[in-house]
Amino acid sequence: MSLSIERIVFYKCPICKTQRKTERLIQQCLESCLEIQRAEKIHSDRINTVRLQATSSEHFAELIIKYSKEWYNVEVRFDSIPDRLQLCNASHNSPVGLPTNWCGRNDDKGYLSYYLGYSGNWKGEVSGRIPNLGKVDYGTFGEVGRWAGIAFIEAMFPGMNLGSGNGGQNFRQDGILFMRDFPLMREVVVHPALMLLSPDAVEREHIEHLVREDEFEKTYKQKQARDI
Ligand SMILES: [Zn+2]
Repeated sequence: MSLSIERIVFYKCPICKTQRKTERLIQQCLESCLEIQRAEKIHSDRINTVRLQATSSEHFAELIIKYSKEWYNVEVRFDSIPDRLQLCNASHNSPVGLPTNWCGRNDDKGYLSYYLGYSGNWKGEVSGRIPNLGKVDYGTFGEVGRWAGIAFIEAMFPGMNLGSGNGGQNFRQDGILFMRDFPLMREVVVHPALMLLSPDAVEREHIEHLVREDEFEKTYKQKQARDI
């Protein structure tokens, strides 16, 4: 009588830590995990280049159309984009790296209730397959591999803030572009030197607000650095 010993070996993917029963399965897991890691790296290299290049809200829209096609093979059309320059409410959205201030609840911490930016409507159409970019969060819309919608653009292009409205592929939503997220736009639209040449009351308010935003950003980031 011979004793048979069944060997059970589990392999663990070094990236996602999933256990697999065969070498072939672990090889497949590793390959797809590496693919996602590569995509994530490319995405994180790209993610802020668009907002840093845009010189106006029209230009931002043009760049979204161009790069959605070039990078992700996703088609975008805009019929309307936010274009009213004003102080925009920070209850639900805020510039990258700065806090919202829901209904002024954090006024006592010195948080701002408004930031200068463009408000208006995003209206248009998106079509194409949502690419798998690992940790990229497509919000309530997306599942990788399904048809792209407005949530795809929001995830791909920081600086685009969506408010209420509807739509995946055919969308119509409120939106805000905060000037702080677009350094070139800010230079072009509200350059302090130009403001001195034409001291219009509204422009003056905008410039003064930008100065308050600068001060707030500085103290907020100093505090964050201390808290870490
Ligand atoms: Zn894996």
